[in-house]
Amino acid sequence: MTDMRIKEIVIAGGGTAGWMAAAAFAKVLGNECTIRLVESEEIGTVGVGEGTVPHLKLFNNLLGIDDVEFVRNTQGTFKLGVQFNDWARLGDSYVHGFGEIGHDISLLPFHQFWIKAMQKGVAADIGAYSLNTVAAPRGRFMPSATDVPPNSPLANVAYAYHFDAGLYARFLRGYAEQRGVWRTEGRIASVELRPHDGFVAALVMEDGERIEGDLFIDCSGFRGLLIEQALHTGFHDFSHWLPCDRAVAVGCERVAQLTPYTRSTARPAGWQWRIPLQHRTGNGHVYCSVHMSDDEAAAVLLANLDGEPLGEPRLLRFTTGARKQAWNRNVVALGLAGGFLEPLESTSIYMIQSGIARLLEMFPQRDFSPVLIERYNARARFEYERIRDFLILHYHATERDDTPFWNYCRTMPVPEQLDGYIRLFRDSGRFFRDGEEMFATPSWVQVMLGQRILPRSYHPLVDQMPEKDLAGFMASVSQVVKACVEAMPMHQAFIDKVCPAPAMATA
Ligand SMILES: Cc1cc2nc3c(=O)[nH]c(=O)nc-3n(C[C@H](O)[C@H](O)[C@H](O)COP(=O)(O)OP(=O)(O)OC[C@H]3O[C@@H](n4cnc5c(N)ncnc54)[C@H](O)[C@@H]3O)c2cc1C
Repeated sequence: MTDMRIKEIVIAGGGTAGWMAAAAFAKVLGNECTIRLVESEEIGTVGVGEGTVPHLKLFNNLLGIDDVEFVRNTQGTFKLGVQFNDWARLGDSYVHGFGEIGHDISLLPFHQFWIKAMQKGVAADIGAYSLNTVAAPRGRFMPSATDVPPNSPLANVAYAYHFDAGLYARFLRGYAEQRGVWRTEGRIASVELRPHDGFVAALVMEDGERIEGDLFIDCSGFRGLLIEQALHTGFHDFSHWLPCDRAVAVGCERVAQLTPYTRSTARPAGWQWRIPLQHRTGNGHVYCSVHMSDDEAAAVLLANLDGEPLGEPRLLRFTTGARKQAWNRNVVALGLAGGFLEPLESTSIYMIQSGIARLLEMFPQRDFSPVLIERYNARARFEYERIRDFLILHYHATERDDTPFWNYCRTMPVPEQLDGYIRLFRDSGRFFRDGEEMFATPSWVQVMLGQRILPRSYHPLVDQMPEKDLAGFMASVSQVVKACVEAMPMHQAFIDKVCPAPAMATA
């Protein structure tokens, strides 16, 4: 019988996507396959990507990398959520914190009680009931404690990271090479297709070397060297819903204590990020080129830094959307080669991770079963669309009418499923997560409320709690949260003590 197992995997590109794939494959498939990665220092990487969602911990766990090792090696800090300023109205501020809000009772989520309490005037802002949203602006952080009761908010602290993506890729390169991944430096000049079925046969390097493989992973960035330039897969363009198409990015000197959250401030034609790292603060201004020039965007960015800029702003152009098929023939696209959803909720690196996990789950044989490919692509599409809708919510649910950009976002038609989510929430505060979509109910609820979608009514079962007990219930939850936050160390002190980056890596 013919051996149908995949024996040779070729990864085209060595940015975050390429080295994440190389590291994971080396760990899981290292005994089965040869893994070769091709990258060009001359072309370089996109060089941005500093925020994550909590899931990255699972990826690092798979590789056996712990928080301390990871944060130290990447000049990293911890992230409890994202603070959104000026999004629904100028002057507004809310935090989308990771983790739970309050304390659910039976089948009812906490926010249902909050709606009634708000209507009766006995509730504080929803942020007062979540550990992360209270701790983040106060600069406090700690991972989950093991010496507290299991129902304490401190027993289960949800957090992500900020980190220098270039250092992460370098760290993963060391990891992958130690486990046998073979790296080739050089430019891929062309992609050779098999004449009979159009599968990729080999990458042809500028010096003429042919690199053959069974399975090719396209991690070549926005250009999509294999998936698009060679296989012409096509692209679903989402820019009519997410119209920002450029960013200018610059690091600046760190001038303050490390804050455990990303800050996202809405601007006249987009928004600006601030990401605290140990050696610098990362900043970027994401904007829509229809409504703002590059020079103006750079000026807005530079006028809103906390410290001296560390160089000139770098311009990045992008189109928000996804390949029509993330997996086409024997090519799987990961990272920017597969698509891009702008960085508002820092989801791109997560999508690399989930693409890798999905591929390992659906790892093919050399016959490349179309059923498997179809399933992979359906899951990838689902994931893109659900995250896309979450991002659109931030732009669309606004009362801002002070610029043409915000007027466009506020009045644009949105995808049907998102429209249904908004109508249902506005009606009675209900939200039903669609299967395995990435953002869970607390995330949607915080952003809906933060964007001023206020429910008209609440679940009728809330009335089973006597009205006289409601204020006490709300107060007790917020007091527990407050006491837990008081018990947390400062984020800066935690980093200094537990995971300071080596001084030699400091810029
Ligand atoms: C403005 C902006 C902000 C972002 N912020 C975040 C964030 O906060 N969080 C997050 O998760 N993600 C973020 N991202 C996305 C994140 O940067 C990317 O998902 C991540 O860096 C992965 O990039 P990549 O590896 O796919 O591509 P790249 O970094 O572009 O790497 C491409 C690789 O392919 C190689 N290559 C290309 N062509 C050839 C060739 N012909 N021959 C040989 N090699 C070749 C290059 O040398 C390089 O090694 C952001 C992106 C942008 C644009």
